[in-house]
Amino acid sequence: MDIKSLTPLLSISPQILIAEIKAVAQAGFKAIICNRPDGEGPDQPSFKEIEAAALQYGLQAHYLPVESGKVRDEDGKAFGQLLHTLPGPVLAYCRTGMRSTTMWALSQAGVTPLPKILEASQKVGFDMKALVQRIANGGKTPSDQVDARHDVVIVGGGAAGISVASSLLARSPQLDIAIIDPADAHFYQPGWTMVGGGIFTASDTARTMASVIPTDVSWIKAAVAAFEPDNNQIILEGCRVVKYKQLVVCPGLKLDWQGIDGLNDTLGRNGVTSNYRFDMAPYTWELVQNLKGGKALFTQPPMPIKCAGAPQKAMYLSADHWTRHGVLNNIDIQFCNSGAVLFGVADYVPALMEYVKKYHIGLNFGETLVAVDGPSHKATFMKNLADGSKEKVVRDFDMIHVVPPQKAPDFVRVSPLADTAGWVDVDPGSLRHKTFANVFGLGDATNTPNAKTAAAARKQAPVVANNVLVAMGQLKGEAKYDGYGSCPLTVERGKIVLAEFAYGGKLAPTFPTWLIDGTKPSALAWYLKERVLPPLYWEAMLKGREWLAEPEMVG
Ligand SMILES: Cc1cc2nc3c(=O)[nH]c(=O)nc-3n(C[C@H](O)[C@H](O)[C@H](O)COP(=O)(O)OP(=O)(O)OC[C@H]3O[C@@H](n4cnc5c(N)ncnc54)[C@H](O)[C@@H]3O)c2cc1C
Repeated sequence: MDIKSLTPLLSISPQILIAEIKAVAQAGFKAIICNRPDGEGPDQPSFKEIEAAALQYGLQAHYLPVESGKVRDEDGKAFGQLLHTLPGPVLAYCRTGMRSTTMWALSQAGVTPLPKILEASQKVGFDMKALVQRIANGGKTPSDQVDARHDVVIVGGGAAGISVASSLLARSPQLDIAIIDPADAHFYQPGWTMVGGGIFTASDTARTMASVIPTDVSWIKAAVAAFEPDNNQIILEGCRVVKYKQLVVCPGLKLDWQGIDGLNDTLGRNGVTSNYRFDMAPYTWELVQNLKGGKALFTQPPMPIKCAGAPQKAMYLSADHWTRHGVLNNIDIQFCNSGAVLFGVADYVPALMEYVKKYHIGLNFGETLVAVDGPSHKATFMKNLADGSKEKVVRDFDMIHVVPPQKAPDFVRVSPLADTAGWVDVDPGSLRHKTFANVFGLGDATNTPNAKTAAAARKQAPVVANNVLVAMGQLKGEAKYDGYGSCPLTVERGKIVLAEFAYGGKLAPTFPTWLIDGTKPSALAWYLKERVLPPLYWEAMLKGREWLAEPEMVG
């Protein structure tokens, strides 16, 4: 018997035998659904025989047969109704388990998010991608109607999506482009560290989405539910279908707030904050100003995360404030980092270590935050030990700045565009998808090994724009991305260690060292971050003016 759990209340299996029913009952199942029509195979007991044996062991049995490859919308509905009425847990079977899984997947349309349905099915060994349109359509077979067609479709109107749209238009002003994004607002996320440090206000970092989408681009205000790259189409939530000639995928990453027990219940209260949320960064500043003594924790989850320096930027700016207000000696600052080093590129570590010493920060490597109990002010970490085992560490806090674990968006992770880790699988130089030649990816959602930053997106956008137009026959010569990313580490108010590096951690300074030596704290770099980079973002990068971002051509 090969029983696999789809949900806590439903498992599926291939054909079961009479002799196995006892074990099914012993495993705790209360009911069996047979989805295999009688007489399909010579070695198959009839449903009547299964039912008789099931009754003997106190199990209910129900017959809902479906022909292989012919699961109708009604079958999914009937399966869902059965699940409601039968006592659980339930075991459903057919020849291999495929039909049972298909019926469950259809029954979950509108009940469970589409990526979760695909993921659960994948876990039990069945690929339900062919069903995405039906699931997105509430479990009903949609018509063949295409709701929109565009030459270039961009998924995500964040830093990467708006920049690439503008860079495309800068090269080909008549190009038919659509951006798909359900959000009302567009955020300059690099500003959130400054909000948490009391330098910017939250509103400095937000604009309406409508105001940043280029006027010649169609905005489809909807969430993408699934990709069908074999058919050059995308399925939107609500089952609308959008066709493309070229697709650019840049929906950012998923902040997994649920990944830390108790965090959602207490975020924004009890001294628990995070600069990774627009509405929470002002609370960081409030906590920093109010803390006069006690314990302050700053956490960093496993890589990859966006802006790998942001967890410690929040810490240094807080410590700087406490220094200036004469309370630093009353505050025990601990940095709890899942990783094994302070910063991934070793050249910047000495300058950062100077500040770690100056602010008396305790460094705790290999410690991953797993739970936060706000009311009792306790944070639980799993610590990696030298022998490979793990140990639970509980720390008290008066203030905790949390950075959540991060992963590829669910609808990307379960799509044909994803690599095994779930990220969009693109060539690191051309940013073209490794399997689908008319698909490109950039920004935080891809599997390229650069620092996930807006600075990276600034360099990637012109590369993708060029290469999309080459693919469309409008330009010649491929452009190549070198892996540039930048992380301005705000070590004190007025000084920044400006980390700029390309693939392989190779230093890639924009300015000569006599002007800004990135490995040392620099006042000019602070000036850049505070005064130059925000207008560069809004007025240049998002508008297709490729200052300091000209792509390298390889052919
Ligand atoms: C606290 C913090 C500090 C940072 N500091 C810096 C810094 O100093 N320097 C720097 O360069 N970078 C920094 N970053 C990182 C930078 O903001 C990101 O790397 C950058 O925004 C990535 O751009 P993106 O377009 O890939 O994703 P995002 O800008 O996150 O945009 C993704 C877009 O996709 C949309 N989307 C999501 N799901 C769907 C869907 N299903 N269908 C359609 N659209 C969808 C979203 O609505 C969003 O508009 C920081 C980030 C944070 C949080």
